[in-house]
Amino acid sequence: MKIGILGGGQLGRMLIQNALKYDDQWFTLDPAEDAPCATISAITIGNFNDFDTVFDFGKGKDVLSIEIEHVNVDALFELRDSGIKIIPSPEIIRIIQQKILQKEFYSHHQIPSPAFQTIQQKSEMHFPLPFVQKMNTGGYDGKGVQVIRTEEDLKNLWDVPSVLETLVDIEKELSVIVAKNEDGDTQVFPVTEMVADPQLNLLDFNICPADISAEVQLQIDLITKQFINAADSPGLFAIELLLDKNQKVWVNETAPRLHNSGHQTQEGNANSQFEQFYRVLKNLPLADTDAIGFSGMLNLVGEEGYQGKVKYEGLEEVLKLPKTYVHLYGKTETKPGRKMGHINVLANSREELMKKLVFIKSLIRVIA
Ligand code: ADP
Repeated sequence: MKIGILGGGQLGRMLIQNALKYDDQWFTLDPAEDAPCATISAITIGNFNDFDTVFDFGKGKDVLSIEIEHVNVDALFELRDSGIKIIPSPEIIRIIQQKILQKEFYSHHQIPSPAFQTIQQKSEMHFPLPFVQKMNTGGYDGKGVQVIRTEEDLKNLWDVPSVLETLVDIEKELSVIVAKNEDGDTQVFPVTEMVADPQLNLLDFNICPADISAEVQLQIDLITKQFINAADSPGLFAIELLLDKNQKVWVNETAPRLHNSGHQTQEGNANSQFEQFYRVLKNLPLADTDAIGFSGMLNLVGEEGYQGKVKYEGLEEVLKLPKTYVHLYGKTETKPGRKMGHINVLANSREELMKKLVFIKSLIRVIA
């Protein structure tokens, strides 16, 4: 089968890496010649936000998908009209691309998400403090999100179309990944905890399975069902959740694609998110997702103050450790905050897992 992916980053790379054990032809579209997928797929250099570029790339493929949601969705509608299979649906991609539409989608489908107001410009603001402002488009990895706590902070309000949303008193950030194939079969991965780096706002550790009560798990089961029914599309979706101090679960946002919070499934589960997404793309029976034990992931992120040809200081020390798996993304240049790779770890208990993750973080540095 000819499978095309918009975006040639690490998510696509790990999808293709896993799927090379099957028989398909892989095509990627990315603006960068040295994108992580460049060496393992037929790459087209081009802008996935441009209508003609996406349309031309999609023609002749059996199935077209994404590894980033900020793509030209009009071209996807047009391609679907001409008979190309698009997964996930252009409708759900368009909703998720815009925070305003995404919030309205949750509210319409009674999916619990923090109370909000949408604004086109800042003069329309009439939302109680404190709140979180999220730009309608253009935000990623925590950019385009700011907390407005006080009257004083209001002068920093961005004058752009945004969502203003109640500030949740967060106990934990969680993620659940759910997949659905065209036959309508669904499979859910165990809930994962995401521990963020307050400085970079980039995801730092994942811990799976999450330490949550049965009651919180029930809330998440319900949200997952509600979301997958409402999305009405085959695909693999990562639902990012906020657990508040009163043990209530809120949906933060959803990614209609492979996700950083699922990387430890590569060694930590019976099958990975990459295997599952492959099966979705081909409408195959979905894979079992059981956790093998405790698993965790540590992002390898470009260290502050270093830019240039990447060096992984301490990598050999890490490779000496048992049940430790290094994944690099094929990026030659590091810069501060750039996701360059990750390390997965298995353990017999949560305590052992945390110890290992903290130890590995102290061993390794991504520098130039
Ligand atoms: P991005 O799309 O850039 O990842 P998010 O919407 O996930 O942005 O927000 C980034 C981070 O901001 C979240 O991981 C969370 O820590 C925090 N955050 C987002 N929404 C809220 C909220 N309503 N209350 C408290 N913190 C929030």
